[in-house]
Amino acid sequence: MPTIKKHTSRPWLSEKKPFEGFVHHNTAFYQSTQWRRLRALKLSEQPLCEECLRAGKTTSAQMVDHIVPINKGGAALDMDNLQSLCNACHARKSAADK
Ligand SMILES: [Zn+2]
Repeated sequence: MPTIKKHTSRPWLSEKKPFEGFVHHNTAFYQSTQWRRLRALKLSEQPLCEECLRAGKTTSAQMVDHIVPINKGGAALDMDNLQSLCNACHARKSAADK
C-alpha cells in the first residue's frame, strides 16, 4: 500500500527576518571580549563625553558610541569610528539616527 508522503518541511518557519538577524548579531558583538576591551580602552583614552566637549561642557562619558553605526556599514572595531558619549548625548544621537 503506497503511503502518501506528508510535506513536513515548512520553509516559511525557518525563514529569518533580516532585522532580527541584525539584532542578534549586534547583541553578540556587544558581548564580545574584543568589543569590551576596545570600549574600555576608548574610555580610558577619552573619559569625557566628546559631544559635550564640542559644546564646551565637561561631562564624564558613560558609553562608547559608533560614529557611523555598524548596521550602516561603520567599522565595528576601529578606534576612529568610536566616540565617548554621556547618556544624554547618546540618547539624542540615537533619536536623531532614526
Ligand atoms: Zn554629552
